[in-house]
Amino acid sequence: MHPTLRVDLKKLRHNGEKLCEMAAKAGLDRLAFVTKSFCALPEMVAALEDLPNPYLADSRVENLANYPKTAKEKILLRLPMLSQCEQVVRHADISFCSEPAILTALDKAAEEQGREHKVVLMVDMGDLREGVFFRDEEGILALANQALEAENLLFYGMAFNVTCYGSVIPTQQTLEDFRAIVNRVEAAIGRKLDFVSCGNSSSVYLLDKADFTGYNNLRLGESLLLGRETAYCHDLPDLYQDAVTLEAEVVEVKEKPSYPIGKIGVNAFGQTVEYIDRGDRLRAIAAVGQQDADYAGFTPVEDGIEVVGASSDHLLLDVTDRPVKVGDIVRFRVDYSAALRAFTSPYVEKVCE
Ligand SMILES: *Cc1c(COP(=O)(O)O)cnc(C)c1O
Repeated sequence: MHPTLRVDLKKLRHNGEKLCEMAAKAGLDRLAFVTKSFCALPEMVAALEDLPNPYLADSRVENLANYPKTAKEKILLRLPMLSQCEQVVRHADISFCSEPAILTALDKAAEEQGREHKVVLMVDMGDLREGVFFRDEEGILALANQALEAENLLFYGMAFNVTCYGSVIPTQQTLEDFRAIVNRVEAAIGRKLDFVSCGNSSSVYLLDKADFTGYNNLRLGESLLLGRETAYCHDLPDLYQDAVTLEAEVVEVKEKPSYPIGKIGVNAFGQTVEYIDRGDRLRAIAAVGQQDADYAGFTPVEDGIEVVGASSDHLLLDVTDRPVKVGDIVRFRVDYSAALRAFTSPYVEKVCE
């Protein structure tokens, strides 16, 4: 069946091993690999089991609940919903929190289930997504005290997240500023925290540059799956960028003009598009579209094939320089957005090998 996402589990595992090595050299020896972009596909989760990372993390409780059997601790990354705290405690060992009401609900759920739940306080260092704002010292200390005093919660650590909403790139300064906040919290509670986490794949570029003293964790998703860091979007030289590729089948090949004929309005998505007249070109249609993936993130594996556009179900390719025929399979590398949507689409077959 096509379209197909083809996952090379050896390459995925290789990426995981390399990231563990790179992080360990910087003193970060307790990585969390993030499984949300691939919807925690069980074969892929299982492929990470023998790596030295002690944690697996996901943003969806449903994905954590569907993990294959694992010896790793499970982290919920997205802030828990108030209506979901019972499932959070059931399926996650650790959750990231920023609200007093959520801590209260997690504590209650943990009491009811007779288990201890670990919480990590999120601090917003300026990316303006989740977390208590870094300037709100009172708010941070209040939440820390609440976590400390909750009978069924273990105040496990602190974390920040950047390069998500605000496009903020973490730097040595970010590390020092956040560590200073952690120091104040540790002084206030009278003990060290077990888990001090300095971001996601956008911190990978710092691994051979910055001083990570006082940290032990990163949460890595995109760098694991696609072998790239996300601060400057560079490929990581020792990692694979093609652990996952997308394949689609060609359903039409015809020579056509490159400029549409007739009065021009908007496309299937109501967008105004600039068309470039390159004369007659050999055009192929592959059976994959916007409903399957974000085609803007496709890069054809073969030279000479160019992505021209896509509607919901049809991907248009210029194949003038590398002709294909009906029934052929075209392969693409995918970016994060394309991978995320393709893994999520029920129309895309997933094959692990
Ligand atoms: C998604 C997510 C990550 C992983 O980010 P990548 O850029 O894919 O490494 C880490 N932390 C949090 C809180 C996240 O939501």
